[in-house]
Amino acid sequence: MLNQLRPLRDFVTPPVCPLCGKELTPGKERLCPDCEQGLPLWPERRCKGCGGANDSYLDLCHNCQQIPGGRPWKIAVSGLPYYGSVREAIHRYKYREKVYFLPFLAGRMADEWLKMAPGVQVDAVTYIPLHWMRHLQRGYNQSEMLAKYLAHRLGVPCIRALRRTRKTSQQAALDQAARLANIRRAFAPVGGETLLGMRLLLVDDVFTTGATLGEATKTLLKAGVSEVSVITAARD
Ligand SMILES: [Zn+2]
Ligand SMILES: [Zn+2]
Repeated sequence: MLNQLRPLRDFVTPPVCPLCGKELTPGKERLCPDCEQGLPLWPERRCKGCGGANDSYLDLCHNCQQIPGGRPWKIAVSGLPYYGSVREAIHRYKYREKVYFLPFLAGRMADEWLKMAPGVQVDAVTYIPLHWMRHLQRGYNQSEMLAKYLAHRLGVPCIRALRRTRKTSQQAALDQAARLANIRRAFAPVGGETLLGMRLLLVDDVFTTGATLGEATKTLLKAGVSEVSVITAARD
């Protein structure tokens, strides 16, 4: 328990705006007034398959309807649309150890999860792992840190359920077909029988095509997990 809570010391909100770094009135606001006003807004209708804008009259957007076999998860939710100040902030967070975005991003994820997936039960939160070499280079896994904070907010444990079986290329540089090939069989389950029958909420930082989340979800379901939902800090 102690071990699980220890990283929370990193989440103490600093008196600066997590998006632009401007100083805030202590204890008053989560974002500075400019950033609060400029925050990208969600369209009214959102797709349950990818968490993005829904351009159809069904629960799924046209893109999700065309995926052979459908999305493997129950529902996908994102904290914020990935553009403008949010895109910059996430990029800084991901590559420059600006961990003070954590409470803001994870807070948005928790809010959107409770709003968009009412009644969806989860037993634990888990995350997309980094390959150990990349973890060593970067020093931390951004998805794991988001997952820990989110689990705390939702009152469930955060567990490690996957490991990388090999090093993959950065998905951001690849097109859709190459992303799928790059990530195929890149994960293996960890935790053995403890995963059986669990309902998991799987965390990643940004949802683009869903290739990484799809492969990770299929690996978990094959390992005996009964249901997976996915959540990301932002939706590209
Ligand atoms: Zn600001
Ligand atoms: Zn969709």
